[in-house]
Amino acid sequence: MSQQQFENFTASSLYCEKCKAAMPVRERLLLILPDKEIYDYLCTGCGSSVGQREVTAGEKMMAQARAPRRPRRRAPGQRIQL
Ligand SMILES: [Zn+2]
Repeated sequence: MSQQQFENFTASSLYCEKCKAAMPVRERLLLILPDKEIYDYLCTGCGSSVGQREVTAGEKMMAQARAPRRPRRRAPGQRIQL
């Protein structure tokens, strides 16, 4: 029986030059632009930035599309045809 689930832990390991090793990283939202977001990866060992990632609006839409979606053709109760 495992109480801890790692679904929320999406950060991967990146090589840190200070630690001289591949370290688990923490994702931090750095910048929000109209068409993309930039994330900073911080080493959990020393806290220095080891990388960045850009998430474009298209990628965000794809991520949302993967989520369970509701059928949008029919809006129940919105229109009643006589
Ligand atoms: Zn480090």
